Amino acid sequence: MGQINCKLTPAMRQYMDAKRDAPDDAILLFRMGDFYELFFDDAKTAAPVMDVVLTARAGVPMCGVPYHAMKTYVSRLLSGGFKVAIAEQMEDPKTAKGLVKRAITQIITPGTVMDDGVLDAGRSNFLVAVNPGSKGRFGLALIDVSTADFRMTELTGQQELETEIQRLHPAECLIPVSLAERWRREGMPDTPPGVTWTPVDDWLYDLDLADSALCRHFTVASLDGFGCRGLELGVGAAGAVMSYTQNSLRQDASHITGMSVYRNDAYMVLDRISQRNLELTEPIFADARNATLLSVLDRTVTPMGGRLMREWILRPLCSVADINRRLDAVRTFVRDPLLLSELREALSAVRDLERTIVRVNVGSANARDMKGLQLGLAAVPGLKALVSDHQDGLLAELGASLSELPELTALLERAIADEPPITIKDGGVIRTGYNEDLDTLRRAAREGKSWIAAMQSKEQERTGIKSLKIRFNKVFGYFIEVTRTNLDQVPADYIRKQTLTNAERYITPELKELEDKVTGSEEKSKALEYELFQGLREEVITATDQIQGTARAIAAIDVIAALADVAAERGYVRPTLTTDPVLEIIDGRHPVLEALMTDEPFVPNSTHLDTGNNQVAIITGPNMAGKSTYIRQVALLALMAQMGGFVPAKSAVIGVADRIFTRVGAADDLSRGQSTFMVEMVETANILNNATARSLIILDEIGRGTSTFDGLSLAWAVAEYLHDNAAVKARTLFATHYHELTELSITRPGVQNYNVAVREQGDKVIFLRKILPGSTDKSYGIHVARLAGLPGEVISRANEVLENLEGNAINEAGAPTLAKHRSGGRKRPPEKPPAPDQPWLFEM
Ligand code: ADP
Ligand code: MG
Repeated sequence: MGQINCKLTPAMRQYMDAKRDAPDDAILLFRMGDFYELFFDDAKTAAPVMDVVLTARAGVPMCGVPYHAMKTYVSRLLSGGFKVAIAEQMEDPKTAKGLVKRAITQIITPGTVMDDGVLDAGRSNFLVAVNPGSKGRFGLALIDVSTADFRMTELTGQQELETEIQRLHPAECLIPVSLAERWRREGMPDTPPGVTWTPVDDWLYDLDLADSALCRHFTVASLDGFGCRGLELGVGAAGAVMSYTQNSLRQDASHITGMSVYRNDAYMVLDRISQRNLELTEPIFADARNATLLSVLDRTVTPMGGRLMREWILRPLCSVADINRRLDAVRTFVRDPLLLSELREALSAVRDLERTIVRVNVGSANARDMKGLQLGLAAVPGLKALVSDHQDGLLAELGASLSELPELTALLERAIADEPPITIKDGGVIRTGYNEDLDTLRRAAREGKSWIAAMQSKEQERTGIKSLKIRFNKVFGYFIEVTRTNLDQVPADYIRKQTLTNAERYITPELKELEDKVTGSEEKSKALEYELFQGLREEVITATDQIQGTARAIAAIDVIAALADVAAERGYVRPTLTTDPVLEIIDGRHPVLEALMTDEPFVPNSTHLDTGNNQVAIITGPNMAGKSTYIRQVALLALMAQMGGFVPAKSAVIGVADRIFTRVGAADDLSRGQSTFMVEMVETANILNNATARSLIILDEIGRGTSTFDGLSLAWAVAEYLHDNAAVKARTLFATHYHELTELSITRPGVQNYNVAVREQGDKVIFLRKILPGSTDKSYGIHVARLAGLPGEVISRANEVLENLEGNAINEAGAPTLAKHRSGGRKRPPEKPPAPDQPWLFEM
């Protein structure tokens, strides 16, 4: 491009300057009149992505998009993985002298986009910055520019980083160039697809720079007030994420008024594999949209509530006191259905206050946003009255965070028209009666139109041309149009302006005089409206803090109300939380399956786990009996309880879990087409190395991904380790088709056997879906094969082979106890009698 510089027009030179100001990897949209133009390589790259025609002028490749459709094209570029820089005209072309000033006003990247059309209302849109430190530690900071959410934390180790990134699912993640290079050499961390990784200069993370920039931003002397003391990596990350945001927005991001520090040990750790296996927010099979916990629980009615619900599901709490505060609030609504329905009714009038107030602050709000704000604020007094009636701790606190802003609400009500247009420069935004000058101008404009109409009739009469029309366009203003057949009647004082195929257009001095009056007042009234709108904007901005606080409180109230609504409808109960590592669920149900099942009833099942005699539960049973469903159900109930919700059970005592691990044997994990046994083992290693006595472990068919003997031996050793290792001792549910594992209970006091009951009826197997104490001695695989119609010969031969294998070959697998039992015939070892504190075990 350098060579052509000498021949550049002034406009092109201006373009080059803007291009230099934009990040190297951004596509520049350059506003020229009614279009955004793209030139050179940007045009070549973007034209196919935006689906527009690539042209060339004087050898320069170019393409353009109409200004009013900009959002559509920007979102196409973003989904294509591009970043976009927008250069606007900084002065009105009508009044500018010489070349109109242009400058970059915004850089839009996946993590800094604020547009409603691009964003998903139900999800936060996080921009994350990762700051690597020594000893594998990381600082992490995140901003959602669309909601002004700003948080930071510190993490120990790559695994914690992966988990956190999985949980946040950021749109974009900043990393220092040095880390990007290291990851390129050593391999990227295992993070979700769809995250844009943006390497940025290392110095952006500089602690001193970050500290002083953030102090300046918040106008504070020290960041200690935010709880940042000692969190140097976190502060570095916060500085990087803030400076990137400011650079992208090309403004100081003053709408971000606070920052909070969070600690991951306040939340249950849900690594990414567990998040997926439990189908918390995403189904394993993409077509099963409603098969997630989120889809069952998300009855929120506001966009902020929807976003927070997702967060509560992915961040269950660990403090019994905090969980109980939420549970108390949920109970308040469960007990008072009338209150609940009134509250949800009131909430449903509230729009996305959180994102709207941000748009107002950054100057992209239109009159519809203001209207939405007004409607939302108008609902606040009602909401406040409904929640503050109750003495409940959390609700009372949330109620206190709701700011009634009666003056502002009334002002917006008085000022903004009922159904304002999208644009704020073309009038129709301000209500009649709000401003006297505006009303006068509008009257002039309106009457002007009737003057024009009067003039049209007068001219028709004077000339005798009945079809004579006075019309308007942007180029000529008002003009008189006479069709070709009537041209002989045109008076001498008409001045011809334009010839069309079948008409001529004229003006007269009288018409132009009128035009000045009419369009003058119209222009003036539009300008005044715009000015008044800006005034309202300023007014709203002064209440930013209160509106943000209100929006956040509304989000929490909405989530609590949603949890109460599901609980009431589905008959959930309040769980009892304890710090003891126990789990005592009577008649628990799988929340998602229960909601999806319409034909047959869901069969409830109980669970008893602790760190003593009931530490490891081995669950056997034939294929399709309900093993996987049962163990996942237990994990989901613990999670629901810790997020502060009621649970589908008759009763539940939940000992707080610091982590939930869920692993599914490779052969069973259908979601990973090319799953390998190695992956399964890596995941298992992770559990054995990280579980604590406070964890809850769900193992589904571990060891299945390899040969029977290998798999069985590994499953055996894993179960033993979980039981024997004092540092682990985690509550464990182990579903397996290796019924040999049940023999562990003979030598291991903390291992209990359960099986899922089936009844044989002639040739049929009836699934009872009931978990019973004791083990099964049949896997029913051959039985199922017979039902499937395999030839009798194959079936009987399979039975023979099975006997052979079970009799001898196990010896070679190196499980001597097992082999001894086996060689003594096929009798089952005696089961331990169930503990007396498990009355439910005798059901059925
Ligand atoms: P397994 O893991 O033992 O092969 P699953 O847990 O996958 O079996 O369950 C198989 C099917 O049985 C489920 O898809 C569900 O339709 C049904 N099912 C499981 N548990 C129950 C239950 N408690 N009540 C009713 N139906 C159930
Ligand atoms: Mg299964």
